[in-house]
Amino acid sequence: MNIESKVRLVEGLFEQLDVEISTFQNQTRLQCLAGCGHCCTNPTIEASPLEFLPWAFHVFLLGKAEDTLKELKNKDKQSVCHIYSPLNLIESTLGRCGDYKHRGLICRLFGYAATRDKYGQQRLATCKIIKENQLQHFQEASDAISKGLYVPMFTDYYMQLNNIDFKLGNTIVPINKALKLALEEVLQYYAYKPFPGSLEKIA
Ligand code: SF4
Repeated sequence: MNIESKVRLVEGLFEQLDVEISTFQNQTRLQCLAGCGHCCTNPTIEASPLEFLPWAFHVFLLGKAEDTLKELKNKDKQSVCHIYSPLNLIESTLGRCGDYKHRGLICRLFGYAATRDKYGQQRLATCKIIKENQLQHFQEASDAISKGLYVPMFTDYYMQLNNIDFKLGNTIVPINKALKLALEEVLQYYAYKPFPGSLEKIA
């Protein structure tokens, strides 16, 4: 399958998830706090290259793939997500995603999706800030889930991602490495293949 087809399939999966999350948010009234970038500044976030393939393809279309790859090669293990855009340098946890449209699967799921605990019960995976600031909504949502409210599941979505490309979907690495691998995948693909007509100017 070519890169563009994979990108379209991943984007289709994200569209399906966005609808489910929007429904879940309306039903539970759970929302991220405006301007909070706390979870994006966690340097231990892990992701797969495949979930960032749409982002990498977009960066490639902008003609910025090589430069972005160089920047990513200079990141160390403590670096926060390369895409993150802090509001200022003093309080780094206030900020936003620098490319929200192309954020990864983990970014979409966290806060509005569930895992299963050792008893097989669905547990909403969300952050401490939401739990503390929206305690009642969180408790009501957890209660509704235990009574059958539909909630997107991490495992289901990662399984669907793996069905698009098992190797790229099943490789779980620190987020900046996932970004780097996604960019390399796109660059390697076009190193041996002609660009689509509209992309010739990038070469
Ligand atoms: S891609 Fe965006 S939402 Fe995901 S961790 Fe990075 S900055 Fe946050």
